[in-house]
Amino acid sequence: MGFIAIVVAGGAGLRVGGSTSKQWRLVGGKPLVRWPVEALLAAGAAEVIVVAPAGALDTAGALCGDLPRVRIVAGGAERIDSVRAGLNAIADETCEAVLIHDAARPFVTRRHVDALLAALESADGALPALAQSDTLKRVDADMTVIETPSRAGLWRAQTPQAFRWPKLRDGYLSWPEGETPTDDAQVMERAGGRIVLIPGDPMLMKATYAEDFEMMERLAGGARITRTGQGLDAHRFGPGDRVWLCGVEIAHDHSLIGHSDADAGLHALTDAILGAIGEGDIGDHFPPTDPKWRGAASDLFLKHAADLVAAKGGRIINVDVTLICERPKIKTHRAAMRQRLAEILCLPLDRVSVKATTTEGMGFPGREEGLAAQAIATVETPA
Ligand code: MG
Repeated sequence: MGFIAIVVAGGAGLRVGGSTSKQWRLVGGKPLVRWPVEALLAAGAAEVIVVAPAGALDTAGALCGDLPRVRIVAGGAERIDSVRAGLNAIADETCEAVLIHDAARPFVTRRHVDALLAALESADGALPALAQSDTLKRVDADMTVIETPSRAGLWRAQTPQAFRWPKLRDGYLSWPEGETPTDDAQVMERAGGRIVLIPGDPMLMKATYAEDFEMMERLAGGARITRTGQGLDAHRFGPGDRVWLCGVEIAHDHSLIGHSDADAGLHALTDAILGAIGEGDIGDHFPPTDPKWRGAASDLFLKHAADLVAAKGGRIINVDVTLICERPKIKTHRAAMRQRLAEILCLPLDRVSVKATTTEGMGFPGREEGLAAQAIATVETPA
């Protein structure tokens, strides 16, 4: 089911202390608001609409404006005004579902989104909620206990909350002026929609107080693993006057034969990255039987593999490619190759290596029937 996400970053959020609104503060070296925006994009959002305070549009733009499919709109005085501003910004009337999420809940993942969309197949709205496990107390102004209410049937609502799109719009249109819903599901409830709960997740915690940030720092920093993948590719020489290797065009007395541009360096590296994240091989993602990839520049294969790493919340740590050939001589092209790989993967140059070797005349590279490349990639992902 296709969806548009609205990330509500409208409040001043100063309860956490300090003078910076909480949604702009760093968690794990990244602005709080950017966490859910990246996660929702990675979970397949057609668009993410970030609702920011009218006076902070530049700040929001600086922190998330570089991401694809992100739009930043001005919110209002109350949360309901900001949500309405986000809903009004939806231009695609064919969109099936809308997810509304608090910017202060950074650790949403694709798993949460998939579960919500699945629940929405048979409901008008769905939200994650946690069982109320602690005993509840009602107190007076002096913190003296007045009563112990039953917690039976009570659940703690989290976000993102997912809704069928036209129904949510209609719900907000009919919401009484002057009243304030405490969440978006309440609007759908009032409109008579069927709302279901899915299992909540402590990781969907919201930054409200200063101590929440301490816990989030720990969560952001922990539970990541390092993975390694390797790739190997070979292509045959045929008639032609140039080859593509590691994204660089090199004049040569032969060309490499293949369905795409036959860039064995990029193919080996793509396979190494796919291997590191357990996503099969290049042929699974770009079948050679598909005419769409005939003559394709292999940059896009590599970019796709890097996007899959990002979609898992991961990052590439370093890559190393070895080209195996007698000719063309690689040495004078190595710097350009490293540069090109660094560009495609958005990595600093010192995390990209390109090397070359011959086989001293032995085997198919030695006889110059073709050439080969092997690559290794190291990737860090959430555990
Ligand atoms: Mg190949």
